[in-house]
Amino acid sequence: MVDLKGQYQKIKSEIDAAVIGVMESTAYINGPEVQSFQKELENYLGVKHVIPCANGTDALQIALMALGLKPGDEVITSDFTFAATVEVIGLLQLTPVLVDVDPHTFNMDVEKFKKAITPKTKAVVPVHLFGQCANMEEILKIAAEHKIYVVEDTAQAIGAKYTFSNGVTKQAGTMGEIGTTSFFPSKNLGCYGDGGAIFTNDDNLAAVCRSIVNHGMGERYYYERLGVNSRLDSIQAAILRIKLRHLDSYAAARNKAASFYDNAFASCEKIKTPVREKKSTHVFHQYTLVGCGFNHFELQKHLVTKGIPCMIYYPVPLHTQAAYKTPQMKHEDFEVTNALCESVFSLPMHTELTEEQLKYITESVLEFVNK
Ligand SMILES: *Cc1c(COP(=O)(O)O)cnc(C)c1O
Repeated sequence: MVDLKGQYQKIKSEIDAAVIGVMESTAYINGPEVQSFQKELENYLGVKHVIPCANGTDALQIALMALGLKPGDEVITSDFTFAATVEVIGLLQLTPVLVDVDPHTFNMDVEKFKKAITPKTKAVVPVHLFGQCANMEEILKIAAEHKIYVVEDTAQAIGAKYTFSNGVTKQAGTMGEIGTTSFFPSKNLGCYGDGGAIFTNDDNLAAVCRSIVNHGMGERYYYERLGVNSRLDSIQAAILRIKLRHLDSYAAARNKAASFYDNAFASCEKIKTPVREKKSTHVFHQYTLVGCGFNHFELQKHLVTKGIPCMIYYPVPLHTQAAYKTPQMKHEDFEVTNALCESVFSLPMHTELTEEQLKYITESVLEFVNK
């Protein structure tokens, strides 16, 4: 699905030098590379504070901890997302309330969000799924009316930009109270191990997050709150500094591949290509199609025999998962997610796709679909 080796080859000399530099410096934890990366990412995102941490799941957990929510408080998120989003809500003994998604963008259905709000609702976690921003204009409006915190899960959409009706453009992850992301190797800004970060424009929330990632410490050896140990290591930060400089060109390469796919499938009635939201740019973390009139697992098998990776993101709705299901969540309330889990498939999407590869992939898909 990704070509991390091909991408590395192109920046190998820079990366190797940076990694060796950290090893020679012995500043393995919270070294200057981490500080510099933090500053550079703040500048890139146009956000006041970036708090690096160990991974994207921790970032979500720390963000929710920083908001001071209490057990039993309800947190609304999407039924169609990676499990981490709902997992951390449950781990903190908050109550996850899942809502269905929009059939075109796969992002949270704002009408369903509105209906799910109760007096116990304290936060909403919109997920910018597959690389495109959720309907933030509406989500922020509804959240403000009901005094609900907005925590954006930006693990799949770092670098996407959202333009509000008043013309203001903001980076994904910087619109709500807190944003979080992941630097998992296959993410759009991926390191060579695990990593994550929290973004906020709020000085107070930033200070609380910085304390939580470091065992809840305030003044040295004075623990003000319960925290965790969650750090981005210096080697990963050094790698991320280099890759951040390429992030926009990486997004452009992904968009070019996406356009090739779009054109190749444009006249195929059995395949629905990704819908582009007017207000958001798309950074194509995944290129996800909706199939109709064929079994997506059969297509996946066909592609595997041709040496083409194909993934089903996601095959099982979260509301049906043993870990998360509750009697309150009714299967019929998740019509769109249920249908998507039976019809979506994602094709290889990365920065190194060649026209030849794209041609072979699209021809192989059409060969199966049209047979
Ligand atoms: C990858 C991902 C995460 C978790 O990130 P990790 O770094 O793997 O912990 C959270 N949410 C979404 C939507 C993701 O895609």
